[in-house]
Amino acid sequence: MPDTHHHKVVVIGSGPAGLTAALYTARANLCPIVFEGLQPGGQLTITTEVENYPGFPKGIMGPELMDLFREQAHKFGAQSVYQEVTSVDLSSRPFKIVSEGTTYLGDTVIVSTGASAKLIGIPSEAEYMGYGVSACATCDGFFFKNQHVMVIGGGDTAMEEATYLTKFASKVTVVHRRNELRASKVMQERAFENPKIEFVWDSAVEEVLGRNEGGKKTFTGVRLKNLKTGASTDFNCDGLFLAIGHHPNTKLFKGVLDMDAVGYLVTKPRSTETNVAGVFAAGDVADPTYRQAVSAAGSGCMAAIDAERFLVHHG
Ligand code: NAP
Repeated sequence: MPDTHHHKVVVIGSGPAGLTAALYTARANLCPIVFEGLQPGGQLTITTEVENYPGFPKGIMGPELMDLFREQAHKFGAQSVYQEVTSVDLSSRPFKIVSEGTTYLGDTVIVSTGASAKLIGIPSEAEYMGYGVSACATCDGFFFKNQHVMVIGGGDTAMEEATYLTKFASKVTVVHRRNELRASKVMQERAFENPKIEFVWDSAVEEVLGRNEGGKKTFTGVRLKNLKTGASTDFNCDGLFLAIGHHPNTKLFKGVLDMDAVGYLVTKPRSTETNVAGVFAAGDVADPTYRQAVSAAGSGCMAAIDAERFLVHHG
């Protein structure tokens, strides 16, 4: 028999939603346990400066903000487990959550597993991932000092990453599949005004180019297809950063929790409760629309209150 650990509240995921849910349930004396997963602190730990989290008029670095979230949750008794959840059984209460061979029991579960960077999905992209291709400028930008990099995407993430990369790179080329950006005005202007950033419009990555000599991989550039003319052109560059959005991390819950067509969890109207009573969802995992740290934290608070009320009624 595996070891079992019984908790009133099990939080899966440790971004702003998960750690806020942990803070609130800890303050309600529910002694939550938080599975922090492979990226403790979530997506903000791979961003740079956060300028729009209320209460920090001078801005704050993403990782520092998440450390503060965690410190505050721990102060009231939340416990972090720095492991990934590998499976869940939500068919009856207490729910079963398995991590590294140990089964944990939860009277309630708050799912805040967030979202991850989307990839284009071509084999050459996978082949050169980590060898010139990256989905995280903050993690890998440093390696491209005085080099030419490309950023794919036209949203806020792409503008943020392109601007950030100019700290290191000599030139940043943003490639977007349309001829107008999706990014907010302020982020667009910042990128347009940066002399190191140039744009290639109406284009998509057709192939990631490189040499693979007996496993020694050297990234050399990309083949772009102009979506208006159909013409393909090879571009030399030193790095490729993908910034084309995110997908929700809901694989664990397939077939069990209701999801939309993309895979975002669906909650009941005016509630964070999922289709399984006692299981709540908070943050980006259930939010295809706003996807902000502050809205995630807000929904983490809501999930904590919903879980607390559920426990009062169901014991
Ligand atoms: P997004 O807004 O969904 O933008 C994704 C971009 O990638 C779009 O321009 C899209 O093109 C393009 N794209 C999608 N799939 C593609 C593909 N297969 N090939 C080529 N291009 C593709 O995602 P995001 O930029 O990650 O932003 C998500 C949310 O986070 C937004 O609400 C954003 O405001 C927020 N955010 C805020 C900040 C900030 O305020 N500091 C920073 C980052 C993100 P189309 O435009 O043609 O669809």
